[in-house]
Order: sequence, then C-alpha cells, then structure tokens
Amino acid sequence: MPRILLTNDDGIAAPGLHALRSELRRLGEVTTVAPDAERSAMAHAITTLTPLRVAEVRRAGKLIGYATNGTPADCVKLGLGTLCPDVDLVVSGINLGANTATNVIYSGTVSAAIEARLLGVPSIAISLATLTDPIWSYAATFGRQVAAMVLDRGLPPRVLLNVNVPNLPRSAIRGVRITRQGDSRYVGELALRQDPRGRPYYWLAGAYEMTDEDTGTDAWAVANGYVSVTPITYDLTAESALQPIAEWTWRT
Ligand code: MN
Repeated sequence: MPRILLTNDDGIAAPGLHALRSELRRLGEVTTVAPDAERSAMAHAITTLTPLRVAEVRRAGKLIGYATNGTPADCVKLGLGTLCPDVDLVVSGINLGANTATNVIYSGTVSAAIEARLLGVPSIAISLATLTDPIWSYAATFGRQVAAMVLDRGLPPRVLLNVNVPNLPRSAIRGVRITRQGDSRYVGELALRQDPRGRPYYWLAGAYEMTDEDTGTDAWAVANGYVSVTPITYDLTAESALQPIAEWTWRT
C-alpha cells in the first residue's frame, strides 16, 4: 500500500486539505502534516531561528494529522525527516486560490511540493481556482487520480506537477491541459488605511492581471474551464539568456 504525506499552506483546519485527504485515503496510508494556522504566500520560507513544535490533531478520538507552528516547507521537512520518513509521494493542497502564473513564486502550497522534490520524493501541488464558494469534490477526485498516476509512473528527477482546477462541477470541466507557467502581475498592490488610533498602515492587496494571452498557459487553461497540469522544477536558470549574457565583455 503506498504511503503519502499530505500538507498544505492553508492550515490543518482547511476544508481543501480534508477533501483531498478523504480521496487520498482510498489510495494508501496518508500522514497529514500541516501548519497550525494559515501560512499562505510564505513561499519557501523555513524556520531556523525558533523551535518547531508538533501537535497531534484528533477528531472523534482518531489521529487525523499533525499540526506544526512551521511553514509549509517546514511541514515537509518534519514529515520526511521524522513523522513519516518512508513515503512514496507528497501531495500539497487543495489550496483555496489558483497557483498559476507568478502566483507560483509566492505559493506555500507549491513550495511544500518543491521541498519534497528537493528531498527526493515525487510530489504534486493542487489548487482550486477560486477564493469564494469552493467546490472541492471534483478537485479532490482529480487530485487522487493524479496521485495514482504519479505513484504508478513516477516523475523525472527534480520535476513536480503543479495542478490547478477550475471551480466547477465535474460535468462543466472541458478537459485537461498540460501547460506552461504563464506570466501575470498585481496592479494597485498597496491599500493605505488608518488604524483605530489614526495611524496609517498598508495592506498588500490589488488585483491579479494576466500579462500573457498565450493559450498554452496554466492561467488560460483554468480561465477556460480546463484542468491545468504544469510540470515545474526549481532550477531557475534562464537557459535562453546564458549565451547572450556570456557574450557581454566580462572582466575580472
Ligand atoms: Mn493558501
């Protein structure tokens, strides 16, 4: 029976985590290690200056997982390092909110899966493309199917799958696209407000804007009713720039 580590960045109480856990338990033995509260947009942060604590989480007397005060990447380190060192697969999600285009850079969900891959375990990140009224059922089912495929076929070294699912029922999904990561930006990012004592503060906000109209991207697929599956890796080298930059006149 395959062994699976499940984590997320929305926290141990997040409904998306439990929807996916229910489905993954049909495939194998699932150990859940998740942050004790939401840690979205933590990217690949790890905790090195303060202790990490782990608490067993029970529902109706049964152990359903471990909550940590760490980041998503810490959860994977704790899982693979001590709580469930021999897993065959790490799955991160289901995140509330798409992790397409440049969201991938900030995503704790994706970074947890990257951490698994850094530690040598095949991994999948799964996100639902909505912030309101989530429909978890289809995304959870699809997540189980992808997990089964990765367990069966494996993944190339250093490659993980970033899966984004439209917030639609199964009947409205148009298909699955294997995509590349698109480009996007946030506009109007800083909201300036006043605290109750009259002092100003800022809150990161703003609207997400696609700057890439290509139909081969993750964001296009999800916006058009397709499930997006992007194979990603953590080598950020811009291969196409190596030669042009090498042609500059470099002096020591
Ligand atoms: Mn999140």
